[in-house]
Amino acid sequence: MLNEDVCERIRQAATIIGESRHLVAFTGAGISTDSGIPDFRSQNSGVWRDVDPLKVASIYGFRHDPQAFYDWVRPLSELMLSAEPNAAHHALADLETAGHLRSVITQNIDMLHSRAGHRQIFELHGHMRQATCIHCFAVCDGENVMRQFLSDGQVPRCPQCGSGILKPNVILFGEQLPFRELQGAQDAARDCDVMVVVGSSLEVAPADGIPLLAHRTGAKLIIVNLEPTPADRYADVVIHGRAAHILPEIIRYVEKSE
Ligand code: NAD
Ligand code: ZN
Repeated sequence: MLNEDVCERIRQAATIIGESRHLVAFTGAGISTDSGIPDFRSQNSGVWRDVDPLKVASIYGFRHDPQAFYDWVRPLSELMLSAEPNAAHHALADLETAGHLRSVITQNIDMLHSRAGHRQIFELHGHMRQATCIHCFAVCDGENVMRQFLSDGQVPRCPQCGSGILKPNVILFGEQLPFRELQGAQDAARDCDVMVVVGSSLEVAPADGIPLLAHRTGAKLIIVNLEPTPADRYADVVIHGRAAHILPEIIRYVEKSE
């Protein structure tokens, strides 16, 4: 049961969304926790336990010890390969289909927005759809590469040159964000009149600057997150709750008022 304060905030968010001309969503790992993929800050998820992220999840670490990277990413990729979009992903896809939402900017690499049917997605931190040889830059099917690794535990090698190591097309610490995705996301942030931020701690730079860019260029901000974020003080509506509960409720109110 949602309390009256949350219901009121949901109604406010629905009114802002209903009146928007250019709505953009910005999502983080929290939108996918109800699909069974832990965010990096979840207690007991094990994803960051006992590891130094700069060692295993950085480009330097990957080049130095790819086996350590692959061993670390194994549980996360197992979950990602079997995960399904949840009610929050579907709610955003419904908003796009209904003509309200123009694009989704995501920090997630789990591809659940595309599986939910979105057409315009900016994947700021890459995705697992492809993997690239760090020697000859040949591009392979990323899901096949990960499935092969999950079955044999061997660091994947390039089928083209035979020797290079394959790296999933995800952005590791120390790597630049993909230029076209970042530029598309920044343009969307400048052009939108409402941005709804879902499931992000807004503590990972430079992606955390996107909602602030939207705010600075005049957009209203709606934030749906379990915990407070540093951008709450700029937001027009802040709703603390689970995305998979809150977003479908917002859509219900948007539809009711049409
Ligand atoms: P984060 O882990 O820093 O923050 C997630 C936020 O979501 C937290 O503030 C948490 O309170 C909130 N949250 C958790 N479950 C929620 C729910 N059900 N509903 C609403 N809010 C919820 O995640 P981030 O901001 O995306 O940044 C972490 C980095 O981790 C990103 O770079 C991202 O690429 C990567 N990452 C991605 C995935 C994925 O693809 N699913 C998973 C883990 C980490
Ligand atoms: Zn190669």
